[in-house]
Amino acid sequence: MSERSERQGVPETPYATVRSEGASMSRLVVVGAGTMGLGIAYVAAGAGYAVELVEVDRGRAEAAAVRLDELCARAVQRGKLGADEAAAQRARITLRGALAEVAPAPEVIVEAVPERPELKRSVLAEAERLHPALLGSNTSSIPIGELAEGLARPESFLGLHFFNPVWAMALLEVVVGAATAPETTAAAVALAGRLGKDPVVVRDLPGFATSRLGVTLGLEAIRMVADGVADPADVDKAMVLGYRHPVGPLELTDLVGLDVRLDIARTLQAAYGDRFAPPPLLVEMVAAGKLGKKSGQGFYAWKEGRRQ
Ligand code: NAD
Repeated sequence: MSERSERQGVPETPYATVRSEGASMSRLVVVGAGTMGLGIAYVAAGAGYAVELVEVDRGRAEAAAVRLDELCARAVQRGKLGADEAAAQRARITLRGALAEVAPAPEVIVEAVPERPELKRSVLAEAERLHPALLGSNTSSIPIGELAEGLARPESFLGLHFFNPVWAMALLEVVVGAATAPETTAAAVALAGRLGKDPVVVRDLPGFATSRLGVTLGLEAIRMVADGVADPADVDKAMVLGYRHPVGPLELTDLVGLDVRLDIARTLQAAYGDRFAPPPLLVEMVAAGKLGKKSGQGFYAWKEGRRQ
């Protein structure tokens, strides 16, 4: 067990264990090694899980392996982990090319593939066949009830909404579907504790608690830029200095990805009506490839991961 989970006194769970280095470890599977899946894998390995990170795209899998090495090296440089501890954490993560390579009955499977309902449903159906004790989706906006359609055991399924970057963000939004069993919710709250996260438990309504409120602010900030109220830096500064937000709504939109926010806005528009209609400026910027930090240009210019 890592120093962190020992400090929290979180016990090892009694089920779904594997033998590794002579110790018994709970198994946690993450599907999708993108921004979120990678972060979840890193944090879970830090909490002592034996992690299998499933990624179908070979290039992305290779990039994820390099990024995990970097994260561990950085933790050592910053004095957060000893060299041996970091090496052990990294060694607890195994990359897999497909769910078919994963042994049955892990404790947890977290789905973190792109925000497309059909893709998520097919990944979840395949994941369920491995009989995890807990099956979660990291969806930002798709109703859990919609994703549960077609699952044989929807009672074991719920939303496990982590935030980016996973290692730095304390919140885990646990989204309880109509079919989710109380024991599943309890297991998700326990998982949050073990991962060092602080959970909120929310009902399954589109946008949950976080995206609904966060996207409202982001969309209004974009409309304000389009209306010429102020430039992006001043709109952000107003919220940071005037309302003590750690980051302004436009910079946050750049960090999340303009395309991701556009998808969420459309989902919320379908659910709640035109108060979530994406502003034309957002639609135009996405069409022009201005996706924020990941593309190098959004409301700000980005170079080597830093706002210019
Ligand atoms: P991403 O595009 O960075 O990563 C998704 C990864 O899934 C890709 O590497 C892709 O190759 C892989 N993938 C696709 N199909 C797969 C399959 N069948 N099996 C295994 N891997 C597969 O996306 P992301 O930003 O990490 O987002 C993932 C999920 O998390 C989405 O639902 C998103 O809405 C949600 N989310 C994102 C953020 C954020 O800030 N980016 C925050 C919270 C939640």
